[in-house]
Amino acid sequence: MISWICHICGDKRPDDKINVRSLDTSKEFGLKDGTMSQNVRYCNDNPDCIEKSKNYQHIKKKSLYEAAQDVVLESSEEEIDEIIRESGEDPKEIVKRGRKAIEDALRKAKKK
Ligand SMILES: [Zn+2]
Repeated sequence: MISWICHICGDKRPDDKINVRSLDTSKEFGLKDGTMSQNVRYCNDNPDCIEKSKNYQHIKKKSLYEAAQDVVLESSEEEIDEIIRESGEDPKEIVKRGRKAIEDALRKAKKK
């Protein structure tokens, strides 16, 4: 049987006891509304998990590298193009900066 880890309490639960809530978190990352969302898994039979899932922010606990991956995975190519266009920056500069941010995050992670 499929089971999932609840993001709130950390328990491993069977598929029918876990719900998924999709939260729009574009704003926190300076992106246009609807361009980035986070899926939160929670126990659908635990009032505490249900309540906390409404504003759970698990991406803040993730590394910068994972956060960057999520943005790329959850946005379409057109949306990414638009974000780059609206920023008015040279795409090459954005890539360079993104690479540096990832390298920094990995370096920091290794030090731990
Ligand atoms: Zn739970």
